[in-house]
Amino acid sequence: MLEARVAVTPMDGQVRFGGTMEIAPINHHVNMNRVQGIVNSIPQYYPDYHVAVPNIKKIWYGFRPCSPDGLPYIGYSQKISNLIIAGGHGMMGVSLAPVTGKLVAELAAGTKLSIQIDCYRPDRFN
Ligand SMILES: Cc1cc2nc3c(=O)[nH]c(=O)nc-3n(C[C@H](O)[C@H](O)[C@H](O)COP(=O)(O)OP(=O)(O)OC[C@H]3O[C@@H](n4cnc5c(N)ncnc54)[C@H](O)[C@@H]3O)c2cc1C
Repeated sequence: MLEARVAVTPMDGQVRFGGTMEIAPINHHVNMNRVQGIVNSIPQYYPDYHVAVPNIKKIWYGFRPCSPDGLPYIGYSQKISNLIIAGGHGMMGVSLAPVTGKLVAELAAGTKLSIQIDCYRPDRFN
């Protein structure tokens, strides 16, 4: 039997159940089959906890912009000299925001970088 692959996280005074990722072109469609799958999995692990399928307006969805190697893009643009790029954080953008922000601040200030960032070069696939 396969596990439900649903993450349960405390978030802002509430409990978040989430975890599906769909490889698709950019669109704002919420796939309710996936939401139903998450909701159905909850009583498998919390038998006394029954959650109704939320209203579509209450469902958090969004983009997990993935790079081919799974690493973010961080660094100066090769084309526009005063543009710093920081994106492509895939599934980890919330967790990585503090360190990415720190690196962007260091780049902008021209100070020594906390870590080597060559592997995150925005142009590495050009
Ligand atoms: C439901 C959900 C739960 C999440 N939970 C967590 C979590 O618990 N912890 C965590 O660390 N992260 C989580 N994430 C992931 C996090 O939200 C993302 O990693 C983060 O938002 C990505 O930010 P970014 O700056 O790297 O995005 P960017 O790289 O800046 O990309 C996003 C933007 O680029 C645009 N874009 C991309 N490609 C193109 C294109 N070709 N043309 C035009 N525009 C384009 C998109 O429309 C979008 O506006 C979650 C994401 C979702 C959807």
